[in-house]
Amino acid sequence: MAGQKAEQSDPAQQPEVNASRYRALVDLAYDAIVTMDEQHNITLFNRAAENMFGYTAAEVLGRPIVTLLPERFRAGHARKVRQFAESYEPGVRGSTPPRMDESNSVYGQHRDGSVIPVEIAVSKIELSGGTEFMAVVRDITDRARLMELLKKQASTDALTGLPNRRGFLEFVENILCASEQLSVFILDIDFFKQINDTHGHDAGDEVLRVLARVGASITRGSNLFARWGGEEFVAAMPGATSELALTIADQLRQRFEHGDFDHQWSHAAISFTVSIGVVTREAGDVDVDALMKRADRALYRAKKAGRNRVEAG
Ligand code: GH3
Ligand code: MG
Ligand code: MG
Repeated sequence: MAGQKAEQSDPAQQPEVNASRYRALVDLAYDAIVTMDEQHNITLFNRAAENMFGYTAAEVLGRPIVTLLPERFRAGHARKVRQFAESYEPGVRGSTPPRMDESNSVYGQHRDGSVIPVEIAVSKIELSGGTEFMAVVRDITDRARLMELLKKQASTDALTGLPNRRGFLEFVENILCASEQLSVFILDIDFFKQINDTHGHDAGDEVLRVLARVGASITRGSNLFARWGGEEFVAAMPGATSELALTIADQLRQRFEHGDFDHQWSHAAISFTVSIGVVTREAGDVDVDALMKRADRALYRAKKAGRNRVEAG
């Protein structure tokens, strides 16, 4: 009892002193801290929140929380909060605040309209006057950018800048799911090993870059031209009939045969030809592997028949 009395009279433990400490702590936090009442109006907005969202606390206190959300998330927000409140039992979940960012796609909106990818931890607080929700909001723009970059790198070929095999397969799988008409071809440079042996590996790389650029230009639009690996390239042409696909493939073959493209070669000009196997999706073709195997067989026939040819499979 004596100890309690001493505490109460200790100026360092007085409620207003504790409130000042709490205020300082909240304003010192790197993360935005925002609370809202049962009507979903903002009741606390710390310094980091001011910096993140571009409003002063005075401007947003009492305003709806959805002010801080991109337009497209506003309508569904109240439902999300309700779901969260119903599922939230602090005693059961322990001391870690639940996160609302499990889908990895939570966004805030700055005053200037720019969208901010965020990570949010939310707590429900029971006060004498009612229930409040507290959100600790972290700006993850840098992480989101890095993820985007890594995702892009994972499906891009470093030498040519074209989509790589993974990028191509993703593209084709989406089309196969949508059960669209689809033609694909696989292209292989003829006697590429000789080009490397005669002109050097760097010259070989230059040929691959030229091929990538010309291939991408002739198969543009909704088509995708990609590096399959080594000196093999592939094209996916959604909506293309077998006639159209054969025409596009043969135009490309002729461009290389006649050196019909602009390029300043680093050393001597290198002439080369290509062989191409073309296939069109058939009813029941749901498997990208089966489609590519057929294309590969057509390519093999083009090679066997003397190279610098297009064969349909
Ligand atoms: P074919 O007409 O039968 O296709 O003969 P080819 O010589 O083109 O076929 P082969 O598969 O024997 O040779 C492919 C060569 O491609 C072998 C490999 O060294 C070369 N290669 C694969 N990737 C690269 C690359 O990134 N850069 C360079 N310069 N060469 C590569
Ligand atoms: Mg090859
Ligand atoms: Mg080859």
